[in-house]
Amino acid sequence: MAVGGEPAAFAGKEMRIVIAGAGLSGILKGIRLKQRGMHNFRILEKASDLGGTWRDNRYPGVSCDTPGHAYVYSFALNPDYKTRYAPGAEILAYYRRVAKKFGVIQHLTYNAEVLSAEWTGRSWRIEAANGEELEAEVFISACGRLHQPKIPDIPGLADFAGPWFHSARWDPSVGVRRKRVGVIGTGSSAAQIISALPSQVERLVVFQRSPHWFIDPPNTRLSLAKRLKLRFIPGEARKYYEKLHAFGEGLARQRMQGGEAGQQVVADFAHAALAKIRDPELRRKLTPDYAVGCKRIVICAAFAEAIQQPNVELEVEGITRVEAEGVRLRDGRLQRLDVLCLATGFRSDAYMRPMTLKGKDGVTLDELWADSFVNYRTVALPQMPNFFMINGPFSPGGTSPIVRVAEIQTGYVIQLIDRLAEQGGCLYPDDARTRALVAEIQDRAKQTVWFTGGCESWYLDRNGVPLVDPVLPSEMAKAMKTAHFADFVHEPAQRL
Ligand code: NAP
Repeated sequence: MAVGGEPAAFAGKEMRIVIAGAGLSGILKGIRLKQRGMHNFRILEKASDLGGTWRDNRYPGVSCDTPGHAYVYSFALNPDYKTRYAPGAEILAYYRRVAKKFGVIQHLTYNAEVLSAEWTGRSWRIEAANGEELEAEVFISACGRLHQPKIPDIPGLADFAGPWFHSARWDPSVGVRRKRVGVIGTGSSAAQIISALPSQVERLVVFQRSPHWFIDPPNTRLSLAKRLKLRFIPGEARKYYEKLHAFGEGLARQRMQGGEAGQQVVADFAHAALAKIRDPELRRKLTPDYAVGCKRIVICAAFAEAIQQPNVELEVEGITRVEAEGVRLRDGRLQRLDVLCLATGFRSDAYMRPMTLKGKDGVTLDELWADSFVNYRTVALPQMPNFFMINGPFSPGGTSPIVRVAEIQTGYVIQLIDRLAEQGGCLYPDDARTRALVAEIQDRAKQTVWFTGGCESWYLDRNGVPLVDPVLPSEMAKAMKTAHFADFVHEPAQRL
């Protein structure tokens, strides 16, 4: 079935566009297309609801460790968050509201994961899990980056007698009250879970493989006066949004470009947070042996207090296997558990896979990415005509809120789509130019603490090279304000 409208030569006509994913990037893409007067698009979502990461992550304590008032679309501010770090449920409600308000809901199809997409010479033939086959001149991946749970290869997981799940698949029907709960991992997701559980559970055992540096800015509650001001005084919400972004960029600039002194500022925060651990032995266990900022810094006000609760135990002995009754450790002890949560992160280099993508001359995505990742300015791939990505490889992380990054990328992609709408045919970036740009990014990224700091993290690809550009949001906005058509091959669409 076609998305709608006429097939093939589309110059001057409305193109058919398919977007994979209804997280914050897919919704944004839909809104921007509608604002350009392009309504002939479908958003295929693998799950039965929108919201991406905020739909998936419903574990106790889930919130956004980026200030909520900045974690919104620039054209749809939300003055109503009551706390600096908004709870996940409120963020999900925000994206639902915005998708509805801007008319994106009617373009959504749920339970329709894109299984494959193949370029036929003039359009993409797309196969979805709901059995639909679609044709579209433009295909966009808005699949996100941290959405495929990384299930660790720990022997015996399937033997565990109680419920177990990944943090992004937390099962709310499983009660944890007065239960013995285990959490594997101590990253950002784990820290939020650990902070929420002690008052509910009988016992919490945290299995740590490596400690993560953490900082603990308070989750300030906005006063009623401040909230009323943001809601009712024109311009106030915008001013606050700009202020938060300017503050975030200032911090990122200090960290990324401030040399040792800049790094030290963040390191001081991390050391001050660690100093709140009163027991020297526990503090020692929680002290990383790598540079601050090498792994993504955990931002969690309540973590230090939670990990020191009498019913919480930090286990640093390695895990041998999982058994029916709990987790067996290298020293032979068994930690008996009723519920086990794997806060073990995501397969950050999967991107839109396991979807298969076949482009020009039958080149597949796996072939294109066989040796290392290539990606043109985070949004396009050589040999993949009229295929665009939001939050693709080398998207900034840690320096810029993802919503801002998605807006910059979407603005760029819209310019490419505009060109296609005017002139037809197909666009894809030049291979040599793409590889030169990737080399520049990698050189930049290799100067950062992510590469030099002496740790493993999801920022790195399998060769240990950062998949993240340390670019600041304002620099990225400037560099991607105007599409670089000279870097693209523009071919007329083939006639079949
Ligand atoms: P993560 O940072 O990758 O942490 C995974 C944790 O699991 C690490 O402590 C890791 O230990 C541990 N682990 C993995 N495999 C293990 C194994 N086989 N045995 C024992 N431990 C194992 O994952 P995450 O906490 O889900 O966070 C991922 C990213 O999501 C964050 O960095 C952040 O960008 C984003 N996030 C954002 C927010 C927010 O509020 N904005 C909240 C949560 C997450 P090692 O360190 O030794 O590998």
